[in-house]
Amino acid sequence: MSLHINELYEQFLRQIPSLIEGTRLRINEPLSEHCSFKIGGPADLFAEPNSETELVQLLKLAITQHIPYFVLGKGSNLLISDKGMRALVISTDHLTKISRDDHCISAYAGVLLEDLCNFALDAGLSGLEFASGIPGSVGGAVYMNAGAYGGEIKDVLYNCRCLKPDLEQLARKNPITYLKNADLALSYRHSILQDTDYILVSSVFQLKPDDPALISERMQDLHRQRWEKQPMELPSGGSVFKRPEGHFTGKLIDDCGLRGHRIGDAAISEKHCGFIVNLGKATSQDVLNLIKYVQQSVFDSFGVILEPELRLVGEI
Ligand SMILES: Cc1cc2nc3c(=O)[nH]c(=O)nc-3n(C[C@H](O)[C@H](O)[C@H](O)COP(=O)(O)OP(=O)(O)OC[C@H]3O[C@@H](n4cnc5c(N)ncnc54)[C@H](O)[C@@H]3O)c2cc1C
Repeated sequence: MSLHINELYEQFLRQIPSLIEGTRLRINEPLSEHCSFKIGGPADLFAEPNSETELVQLLKLAITQHIPYFVLGKGSNLLISDKGMRALVISTDHLTKISRDDHCISAYAGVLLEDLCNFALDAGLSGLEFASGIPGSVGGAVYMNAGAYGGEIKDVLYNCRCLKPDLEQLARKNPITYLKNADLALSYRHSILQDTDYILVSSVFQLKPDDPALISERMQDLHRQRWEKQPMELPSGGSVFKRPEGHFTGKLIDDCGLRGHRIGDAAISEKHCGFIVNLGKATSQDVLNLIKYVQQSVFDSFGVILEPELRLVGEI
């Protein structure tokens, strides 16, 4: 057993096989393998529910046993602590159902955006082209109101099916809460999911019919632009900072002379200064130190405060 496993976890582990048969549970799972930065220590407990029912059972058990939990998508917007997470990490990787109803597509939280975009392309439905190439899941994309090249989730989201982690509600025959687009307070890299404890189970996207050849052309064009301008070939967590009003983050950092600046194996990308890349064995501390250094330099030179878009999670 792991160093981190305490009595609470042992109780939880004893219950899980009988209560949630299909869910595989791992102990001390290295989170560096579950995020795009390839950085991060172990999760005490790691589970990948295979269905909505298993997710509900897992949540009920975690709440009853007072086990802290964290919902993980594709880990493409996270900097996970070197010490890992003292929690049950619930991965949505196996929640990948996707279906079409007329001009709408319903996708579960774990569906990769790329797969969602390709599904829309095959269905001749347009609106999600902007998301093709964003390496996240549907859950993470709604949570962040992900966007690129003039489009964002807000433009195409119809509604979400969510779970409130409340024992009374989870015990109901139908524990789902529906949140419409307007209920989600979607704005630049923000949704209400960040201010509440709702867990997104699935989302419906409302799209418009279009010629698949034209949709494909737009997707390919955006892919090409992304690979030309962003360090897609190296591990990273995407844009480190939100765009400050009236400025371009990459230019501010470049103008401070920080292109390629390195702390340990964390470096400002040579290709796009808004990205920090992992050159091999970067630690979360290297990345944090670099983030602080960049923030200070940009503030000293231009008086601009850079706010992280990357979410820092785990044991400090
Ligand atoms: C190379 C690269 C390029 C990128 N380009 C873009 C871009 O152009 N535009 C953009 O917006 N982003 C971009 N990103 C950032 C990232 O891909 C997006 O923010 C993405 O939406 C995150 O999704 P995820 O599944 O990886 O979420 P994660 O990183 O796993 O999680 C992010 C947050 O969402 C929460 N979350 C995840 N799933 C759920 C759920 N089901 N219910 C409740 N909460 C949940 C997590 O708890 C966490 O707090 C890029 C990242 C990389 C590495």
